[in-house]
Formats: sequence, C-alpha cells, structure tokens
Amino acid sequence: MHIMHIFLLLISMLISGWEQEANPLLQSQIEKKQSAPETQLISRLDTESIPILMYHSISINQSNTLSVPPKVFYKQMEHLKNAGYNTITFKELMSWKTSQRLPDKPILITFDDGYLDNYTVAYPILKKLQMKATIFATSDFIGSPNHLNWNQAQEMEQSGLIEIGVHTRHHVDLTKSNQLQLEDEILGAKQRLEKGLGHPIIAFAYPSGEFNQNVIQVVKRAGFEFAVTTKPGYAEKKQGYLTLHRIRIPGDQSMATFIRKFP
Ligand SMILES: [Zn+2]
Repeated sequence: MHIMHIFLLLISMLISGWEQEANPLLQSQIEKKQSAPETQLISRLDTESIPILMYHSISINQSNTLSVPPKVFYKQMEHLKNAGYNTITFKELMSWKTSQRLPDKPILITFDDGYLDNYTVAYPILKKLQMKATIFATSDFIGSPNHLNWNQAQEMEQSGLIEIGVHTRHHVDLTKSNQLQLEDEILGAKQRLEKGLGHPIIAFAYPSGEFNQNVIQVVKRAGFEFAVTTKPGYAEKKQGYLTLHRIRIPGDQSMATFIRKFP
C-alpha cells in the first residue's frame, strides 16, 4: 500500500512536470492572465498574495469617489467577517516576511490621511465586528480640523484593533521633494508619530502613491518594514516589502462587485 502511494506520487509528479515543459505557451498564457488587473482582484487563498484594502474617508461625499459611505463600509466589513477573512495589522504581517504562519484568509484594511471619520465612523464599526485596521496618518495634520487628534489615535491603538502608520508630515509629492525635504517628510513624520504614540512604527504609505528609487531608499533608511503604494492588486512578496500593491475600494462600488472580489 505504501509503495503504491509513492508510485502514484511519482507518476503524478512526472505528469505535471511533463505538462509544464510541454506547454510553455499555456504557462505564459496563465502568467499573462494573472497579471491582468481584473483577474488579479479575484481572491487567491494562498498567503503568497494578500489583499490590502485602501480606504480614505468613511463618509457620504458624492463628489469624491474616494469616500466610502458608512453603511457601505459596514456591509463590506460584515461581509469580510462572515466570509472568514482575518484582518491583520502590519505588525502581524511581519510573520509573512519571516515566512511564519498567518491566519487563514488574511486581509489588511488601511485608511490613508488620518481623517476624523476614521475615529467617529470606521472605528466603532471595526470595534463592533472586532476587526483590525491600519490608519496612515499625516503627522502634522493630527489635531487639525477634520483629522484625528492624538487622544483619538492613542485610544484606538490601545484597543489593539488599530495600528497607526506614517503618511509623511504634510502629504507632499515625494518625487518632487529634495533630499532634505525627503528626510523631513519621511523620517521626521516617523519620529513625530513615534514620540506621540510612544512606540516604533513600521508601516508607511506614499502620499498619492508617488515614489521613485530615491524615495524608497529614504523609506528604507528610516527603518520601515513595509510601505504601500496605490498600484492596484494583491500584495505579493516579489513586489518588494517597500512597494506593496493595494486594492482601492471606490465609494460607488456595488456590494455585488465587492463580494465577487472577496468571496
Ligand atoms: Zn493620502
């Protein structure tokens, strides 16, 4: 019986090996298909590719498709929960980097800019559903109108559900900044947030998704473990930990589309 198993295994290995060699065209077709944006958004359950969702404001603002209405956001989170997704923080994503086990169906929820409604609207929803998320705050906007203040950021972090990431000091286009500004916007923001929150911060988001090799080098030198872009698709290791892709959730997206993307 045992020998029979090994024999069958060998046969199947031979066949699959032969198929790959005999069909180079098919293989390239598969690769092509995988890199197409639409197919890339269809859920893959292996942890080599992880969805990182990108939100901004959770509010009703029809002139801005970046704003997701609160009811829609609630339904999306409820769906993810019911579909068995496990929200993780970037801190937990360190296990991915070191190839340790992650929870099943891992997913990251992120918010850019640090809007006040992340605290007043999104946080109560996440708390109710016990889901985790990361807020990329623009350090010098903390405490300004329509943005989070320090107490709110601290309170959310203390719940264990929210992680704060860095989104520069002033939300500048980093590709148009000189070296001094780069250091100030990236390292300066990290230091301000770390001082205000009292612990190291490991994740960074490029404002408007703008970056180049020089910008990446500064992010690396600042000591970030992860940085996210606005390039569409699942995050994959081959993208590089400092240039991970994200999936933008438009405010006008139907629930059916959301469910199809995250079954
Ligand atoms: Zn932003």
